[in-house]
Amino acid sequence: MTSELISLTAAETASKVASGEVSAVEVANAHLDRIGAVDERVHAFLYVDREGAIAAADAVDKARAAGEQLSPLAGVPLALKDVMTQKGIPTTCGSKILEGWRPPYDATVTARLKAAGVVILGKTNMDEFAMGSSTEHSAYGPTHNPWDLDRIPGGSGGGSAAAVAAFEAPLAIGTDTGGSIRQPAAVTGTVGVKPTYGAVSRYGLVALASSLDQAGPCSRTVLDAALLHSVIAGHDPMDSTSVTDPVPDVVGAALRADVKGLKIGIVRELGGEGYQAGVRQRFDEAVTILEGLGAEIVEVSCPHFPYALAAYYLILPSECSSNLAKFDGVRFGIRVGEGDGDPSIEQVMGRTRAAGFGDETIRRIMLGTYALSAGYYDAYYGQAQKVRTLIQRDFAAAFAQADVLISPTAPTTAFKLGEKLDDPLAMYLNDVATIPANLAGIPGMSLPVGLAPEDGLPVGLQIMAPALADDRLYNVGAALEAALLQTWGHPILQEAPSL
Ligand code: GLN
Repeated sequence: MTSELISLTAAETASKVASGEVSAVEVANAHLDRIGAVDERVHAFLYVDREGAIAAADAVDKARAAGEQLSPLAGVPLALKDVMTQKGIPTTCGSKILEGWRPPYDATVTARLKAAGVVILGKTNMDEFAMGSSTEHSAYGPTHNPWDLDRIPGGSGGGSAAAVAAFEAPLAIGTDTGGSIRQPAAVTGTVGVKPTYGAVSRYGLVALASSLDQAGPCSRTVLDAALLHSVIAGHDPMDSTSVTDPVPDVVGAALRADVKGLKIGIVRELGGEGYQAGVRQRFDEAVTILEGLGAEIVEVSCPHFPYALAAYYLILPSECSSNLAKFDGVRFGIRVGEGDGDPSIEQVMGRTRAAGFGDETIRRIMLGTYALSAGYYDAYYGQAQKVRTLIQRDFAAAFAQADVLISPTAPTTAFKLGEKLDDPLAMYLNDVATIPANLAGIPGMSLPVGLAPEDGLPVGLQIMAPALADDRLYNVGAALEAALLQTWGHPILQEAPSL
């Protein structure tokens, strides 16, 4: 029974709960058992809220028994990235500096999940404050890729992606500042979506780079991602950058799954040199499939994309150095060195930050502080903002020629734990194809398009659409997913792996 319940999609689970075929408590228990059985090896979770999950599931069962109308994801378990606040539940952002902090409030995303009867199982592992591509920058140890436990699950949201790939949860929430939903999805064979900037509230999402951060869904199917997207998206007065436009019909688009007559643009600057042969091969095959489904394939050029990574690594550290200034040992988490001599407040802050932040976080704070300093602001931060505008113009020109754009999501499949840890530049290059979407605020999806022949590991394809046209991602993604399913005869993640 357990293995059956954990193998269901979110849509199937919700319908079985709604019909009374299974109870939400049974579903929650099946997933908690799975976590108990495998998470020692996967380490997707930093905190499991057994009691809270059972209570939430029980409330769904009671509402059903009372004849109440259940929302479309009621009773479906979910893993929440540890960068999202949940009232009373430890929220660390993968950092020592927040150890022991229990937020006094729910993020808007968390509140919407609760209101929809989604059962939150716990908080997932991540690179510290969402900086990284492998979860190896978590202060609590890395997450392991369920496809091969010696490999990285991507980052920063590797915990969320691994939880879904290991069948510990059918759904998860990630956040994507430069690729942290899409790249983990690519290397774990799951679906991940970064919605349009401002489409999902950032209230209660611990900020890394406020102009880039966006929360979104992780799942095993495109339809499940759409269902979760429609629960969490929508205007929120608590977030001043929240868009007021109506949420596009992403579920309808996923059900439509028809690309006939659609123009799909291949971005010339993404996917050539530096991309693994098997990644390119699976991408090319997917293009052929889309063509076979009646899409018109065009090639587009985005000449400023080669500068996106450099611009991002000035803008992100700048915003991060400012956002992380609040972690000073006074208001949140740990405080270090208070009793050592008669220290000044500055000394306690310095000691707390030195002890609480890891190497990558300190590296980015230093980079950002430098880039923003009086003498260098124009040369670095100002220049990077200009490049950002050029990238937005590249997208505008490309979307004049195509309805959606596609590329490989990540240049390689999952690499070995430790392989790139001492080489920050090699680590940064993982996001070369995902960063442009963040800089422009447009939505992007990664979905699995097969296994690379040379290593048998999953390959992701990225779809990008104009701002507010998130529904196009789901339409194209679902069409491609259905065609691949037919080719393979089964989903890429067929059944819960024995770990
Ligand atoms: N890997 C990228 C970085 O390290 C992206 C992170 C993210 O999207 N949160 O900044």
